[in-house]
Order: sequence, then structure tokens, then C-alpha cells
Amino acid sequence: MISRRDLFSTGAALAVAAGQARAAAPKNVVIASANGLRACQRAMELLNKGTDTLDAVIAGVNIVEEDPEDNSVGYGGLPNEEGVVELDASVMHGPSRSCGSVAAIRGCKTPSKIAKLVMEQTDHCMLVGDGAGRFARACGFPEEDLMTEKTRLAWFAWKQSLHTFWGPGIDAPPAKKNALELKRLFPHADDDTIAWAQEVAARPLTGTINCVALNTKGEMSGVTTTSGMAWKIPGRVGDSPIIGAGLYVDQEVGGAGSTGRGEENIRICGAHTIIENMRHGMSPKDACLDACKRVARNFDNDKDRLTKVDINFYALRNDGVFAGAGLWKGASIAVNDGGLSRLEKLPWLLER
Ligand code: ASP
Repeated sequence: MISRRDLFSTGAALAVAAGQARAAAPKNVVIASANGLRACQRAMELLNKGTDTLDAVIAGVNIVEEDPEDNSVGYGGLPNEEGVVELDASVMHGPSRSCGSVAAIRGCKTPSKIAKLVMEQTDHCMLVGDGAGRFARACGFPEEDLMTEKTRLAWFAWKQSLHTFWGPGIDAPPAKKNALELKRLFPHADDDTIAWAQEVAARPLTGTINCVALNTKGEMSGVTTTSGMAWKIPGRVGDSPIIGAGLYVDQEVGGAGSTGRGEENIRICGAHTIIENMRHGMSPKDACLDACKRVARNFDNDKDRLTKVDINFYALRNDGVFAGAGLWKGASIAVNDGGLSRLEKLPWLLER
């Protein structure tokens, strides 16, 4: 027999499914992954001026894409195994229900802008590799070097750590301590930078920025942009440019995105799964936790194997309620719902 509570939640789910207005009036809200405090702030300033939600989130993530100190996004992102930076990005515009993305694009600091141009200026949704780069040039974006001294140092440290023909050997000067070899090649690098390079060589850094906005008209858009996995095979594409995995927006329900191990997110179509969960009545928090559970299930919930997987999900519902979830304890979400951006701790599925 169906209980009153079931009846109520079924009714609520049907109301969402039918796209009916919620009780709360929409307000300006921006959420992002934890590296998105400045992005949320910038996007909120623009929303307050009436800027379109997609332009607002793209302007927000451009700050991180152009920042050489963020080594997981845009300029200064860690390169592939050949020492070339390849970037992935996607955008979704709620009001027009349109999307665009680029994958493994080279030579452009702001792939989110190119993803938007794919959305607006072509009859396609996604461009990859060399074709994406040529499209960017055709749109007036000059070819840029995305490596910095710091990322070149990290890549070099990684190459030497593989103990191949890079580094000391029979026909090279006797091995010194690896840090001293690096110091010789990168004389301007301080000890902290060398230690950082050795750390990311041993444990490749991950990171991405996902940012989703809602405005007072109930309009929503989102963007996800990344340099992907450090030391990846050239041509590897992660979840960030995959519509439905790294990003999904349906402004009749909400927007969602992800950061972390892209392969695992692609396997569960994370962002789309979260939106469909919310469409059928789940709260943003439960919808994100469900995505984590699906990742865990793909490893038979084996905690030992899951130790190597880091993944977080973020969701903003069209009434302004937001949440996220981490597969592991310790992740945060950036939010701006007026005033200054702040970080909030995310709920989690597993504890180390
Ligand atoms: N999701 C990104 C990718 O797999 C990386 C990350 O967020 O750490 O390309």
C-alpha cells in the first residue's frame, strides 16, 4: 500500500518532472569545485549586472584557466606524456538548450571560450584535437605556449623518474641526487618548487573546474574545463568535455558536474545521472551520493581498489538548493549565493 509520505514524494517528483514552478523564487546562485572561489565571485558579479548565465560562468572559469599557478586547468596545466598541454572543456546553455565542447585541444589557454564558439558558430557539438585547434585559430585565437617553467620542470622530473634513457646512465654523468640534477637544468627553481615537481612526478596531480549558475529568471548554465590527467597518453579525453559526464544542465531541473578520475565518471554518465535523479525527486545531495555509489559499485565496493579513485560531484537545483558529494571524505564545494564566495564541506561515501 502506498503511504502518505510516498504519495507526497511521488507528487513532488511528478511536479519536477512536469517542470512546474517550485515554491521558492529563483535567486542568483553560483557553485563550483573547490578551486572556484574566484570564479564564483566573478560569475556572481556578472549575474548581478544581468549578464547571461553562460557568459558569467565562462568569465569565472577564465580566471583559473589563465592562472599559471593552477596546474590542472588551462595555461600552466600539467602536460601529456610528450610534454604537450592538451585541454578539455564543455559548456551548456540552459535557455537555448544548447551545448558545445572541445577535447585534447592544444595551444589555447581558454578552451571554455572555444567550446562556446563550437556551440554558437558550428552545426556540431564537439571538436577534438587538431581540428579543435584549427577551429580556434580560424576564430582568431593565436597559438599560445601553455607550458610554464614550473610545469616543464615537473614534466622533466616525471620523465627522469621513469628510469628510461632520460637521466643518468652508462653514457651520462654519474647519478647525483635527482633534486641536484633538476637544479642544474632549472637553476632558477627554488627548493620548494623542485620538491613539488618531484611530488607530482610520483603522484600525478588532478584537478578541473566545474561551475554552474542560476539567475533570478530561473535560467541556468554550466562549464567544465581542465588540463586533464597529468602525463596522459596524447589524445586521451577525460569526462570534462563529455556532455552528460563532466557537465549536464537542464534548467527545468538543474545543473551538475564533476571533478576527479574522468574515466570512472564517463562509466556512469555522472552529471546526467544526477540531473535525472533530481528530476525524479531526489535531493541534490542524495543525487550526488547516488553517483558516488554507482562509481563504487563498478569496483564491487572494494575499498582497496577504490583507494586509487578520487571523484567529486556537484549539483545546483533550479530552486537554488545546491549540494555535492565526494567518493572520499575531505572534498569541498565553492558557492556564492550573495556576498563573498565560501567553501562548504561535502558529504562523502567512504572514509580512508
Ligand atoms: N576529470 C578530469 C579528467 O579526468 C581530471 C580531474 O578532475 O582531476 O580529465
